[in-house]
Amino acid sequence: VSTPTTWLLDDVLLVPMDGPAEAPLGDVRRGALRVRGDRLVELGALQPAPGERVVPGGGRAAVPGFVQGHVHATQTLFRGLADDLPLLDWLRHRIWPLEHSHDEASTRASARLTFAELLAGGTTTVQTMESVRHTEVTCDEVLAAGLTAIVGNCLMDLPDGGVPAGMPSTAAAAIATTDALRRAFHGRSGRLEIAVAPRFVLSCSDELAAAAADFARRHELRVHTHADEHPGEVAAVRARFGRDYLEVLHAQGLLGARTSLAHCVHTTARERDLLVATGTAVLHCPSTNLKLGSGIAPIAEYHRLGLRTAIGADGAPCNNRLSMLAELRLAALLQNFAAGPGVFPAEQALWAATAGGARALGLDHEVGSLRAGRRADVLLFDLDEAFLPLCADTPAAIAGAIVYAATERQLHAVLCGGEFAVRDGELLQHDRRALRADAAAALPAVLQRAGLHR
Ligand SMILES: [Zn+2]
Repeated sequence: VSTPTTWLLDDVLLVPMDGPAEAPLGDVRRGALRVRGDRLVELGALQPAPGERVVPGGGRAAVPGFVQGHVHATQTLFRGLADDLPLLDWLRHRIWPLEHSHDEASTRASARLTFAELLAGGTTTVQTMESVRHTEVTCDEVLAAGLTAIVGNCLMDLPDGGVPAGMPSTAAAAIATTDALRRAFHGRSGRLEIAVAPRFVLSCSDELAAAAADFARRHELRVHTHADEHPGEVAAVRARFGRDYLEVLHAQGLLGARTSLAHCVHTTARERDLLVATGTAVLHCPSTNLKLGSGIAPIAEYHRLGLRTAIGADGAPCNNRLSMLAELRLAALLQNFAAGPGVFPAEQALWAATAGGARALGLDHEVGSLRAGRRADVLLFDLDEAFLPLCADTPAAIAGAIVYAATERQLHAVLCGGEFAVRDGELLQHDRRALRADAAAALPAVLQRAGLHR
């Protein structure tokens, strides 16, 4: 067995994101990164070994790959097909019929688009909630794309008003699907986990919720679901259960340190106590919360309470981008409005997009910071580009440049598991035209089956 040779990413500004809470960027300094296979071997003031390959970093800022806590790869094909609707109408009239009409080919096209777009924007780790069927296709595609991922088939067994006939399964069948995915994919390549993913409280019977909690506990799987997203949804939960959303999830055994909840926009004081007591993580999706008219999640308050928080784009039909830089900017801007400037500053936002997001997903031993032994997921930002701040020379100013000013224009390179996915601003290994053509070829049949033919 031959050991892969090392190579040196030389002349970078190291932004390791491994510092303490009050200074999360860590020891920012000039240096180099040594890479072997998919791992960082060492970083700091390094000299090339004799014969070692050296890739010049051009003095750019080296930041850990972004970690997105909440997306739906299966929905990327439906970007632009569900604009300007509130949550429950968005689900009933568009998303459920469309998801239910997927076949393998359309799921594959959607997944390929998703992972290419994520890599193009610097996201190298993702948690995605898929539809009821065809999740094995998404698992294949994320393994091929090279990202680190947590994937779950969504669990739903209640008909609710707009769910198409045949979409919800029985509790037993839903869990059996997750179990089949677990057997086939959990732990594959050391970078894919299968999660237990109840869609949301309103889609699940008490029987399914209990089975999901039991299955997750038995196999030590993560739980990924939505909660407290939209006022109309929160009211529907109160009407069915007579208590707060998170009290329902807690009673069902679904809160805990292995659980992450998308949104949490409308939590009561009692629900926040439950989040703290159970160590449940929050997944913040600012664009989606604004687009569906849901509200502004109190992320600065969650941060103050010490809750683990990640950021995500959510589905393409409710964003309509999958860009971490867009979510990062919006997350920081919204908290400046909601909590006051300086309460959730750019450094803390960047932490949530990297090391903090990895902690929220329980993946911080693998990704989210630049340390020896972690995956070689590295972004190179061109902080000297004309349209960025002229003086990004302190941790706060570097974070401010990335969070408030940078776009994909200044994202020079993306290293994912030691391989360049983006270099000189160009997405390698993917042909954007071909991706779009495959997706466009798959969509008409889906629309026809969904009764949404245009
Ligand atoms: Zn979602």
